[in-house]
Amino acid sequence: MEFNHSLQFARKLDRNDSLKSFRNQFHIPKVKGKTAIYFTGNSLGLQPKATKKYIDEELQDWANLGVEGHVHSRRPWVSYQKFSKTILANIVGARPAEVVAMNQLTVNLHLLLVSFYRPTKERYKIITEHGAFSSDQYAFESQIRFHNLNPDDTLIELKPREGEFTLRTEDILQAIRDHRDEIALVIFGGVQYYTGQLFDIKKITAAGHEAGAIVGFDLAHAVGNVPLNLHRDDVDFAVWCSYKYLNSGPGAIAGCYVHERFSQADLPRFAGWWGHNEKERFLMRKGFKPMKGVDGWQLSNHPILLSAAHLASLEIFKQAGMKNLVEKSVQLTGYLEFILNQIDPSHKYFNILTPSNPKERGCQLSIFMKKNGKKVFSDLTRAGVIADWREPNVIRVAPVPLYNTFEEVYLFGEIFRKALGVKL
Ligand SMILES: *Cc1c(COP(=O)(O)O)cnc(C)c1O
Repeated sequence: MEFNHSLQFARKLDRNDSLKSFRNQFHIPKVKGKTAIYFTGNSLGLQPKATKKYIDEELQDWANLGVEGHVHSRRPWVSYQKFSKTILANIVGARPAEVVAMNQLTVNLHLLLVSFYRPTKERYKIITEHGAFSSDQYAFESQIRFHNLNPDDTLIELKPREGEFTLRTEDILQAIRDHRDEIALVIFGGVQYYTGQLFDIKKITAAGHEAGAIVGFDLAHAVGNVPLNLHRDDVDFAVWCSYKYLNSGPGAIAGCYVHERFSQADLPRFAGWWGHNEKERFLMRKGFKPMKGVDGWQLSNHPILLSAAHLASLEIFKQAGMKNLVEKSVQLTGYLEFILNQIDPSHKYFNILTPSNPKERGCQLSIFMKKNGKKVFSDLTRAGVIADWREPNVIRVAPVPLYNTFEEVYLFGEIFRKALGVKL
């Protein structure tokens, strides 16, 4: 599409946007009494108005039924994890039996590493991206130590080429080939949290399998943001959180995926009663018999209030459809990139770290400030923009197709331009 740097043009895109009414389903924060430009859905997604109703319903059922709610509430608590499966499966491109909502992201990462990171004497290394999210780094290092190995000799962290911001797929594939006899696990973010780069899940998975390794992804910044086809791409396992693009609230229940080829595999795992064969769960007998599929990794009974918030949000994803959301997202972020490039065509003030190919990113753009980054960021904040600052010099902005508008992208551009002191 030919973009135009004007308020009228932005408003015209909003008028023609078939998803525009979804914004009304969310609470939009205010700054000094004025509706904020909220570009931080990559960090904490906004609250759907329906969330309160879903949680209230569970509170009512608990009040009225007490323990009987496990079977007699409107959404019986004993099988609550089943209500999110189909929608989650559609969002990540999997079969319902391959996905489950449970725990939180880092917990799920550890649980699946217990099963899928199984180093041997020859094959023990892990390939990942350099500068992965801190929690992932801590998880990898502690898992490595748990196996009495040394992280320095075990973790291979890939860096972009000199002078480049993001990894080239060809370099990732080459590194996997170079280490083919020694890697046990290939694990990447789906979308890199700092740069916003979307990795080529299909090619990385194929290369990992070719090398004889297990391949997993942390989809914290990818789920609900970019098209995913975990099953078709043959990914072994994946984890995500639900408070970013999935709008399920601070500390929301997270999710995970395990390919169906492992559905009856005899893998080592840390077990709990909610992963036990549900037909015999309440017999409380000795001897763990895992449920088939990813459900067998559940530990504890399902957190109903968190899960109610999750369902409220997933219902919106079902109505909007991932395909439509991605289509709008490509336009919305494309428009943001266009405006940023109009403001600073010769990159005097900033560089966009995020790849410019829409197939290599989601909605987030990471702006690397060459000078005055902190000052510009505080000017943005003062003008009612809620964005995100990452040390040393990066402003991350993520217009989210469910609730952000083209007009907001235009207005953000004006506020940013003035903060930089650029005249058009
Ligand atoms: C947000 C995020 C986390 C956060 O982990 P929690 O266990 O949900 O606190 C971990 N990893 C990545 C890549 C993230 O983006």
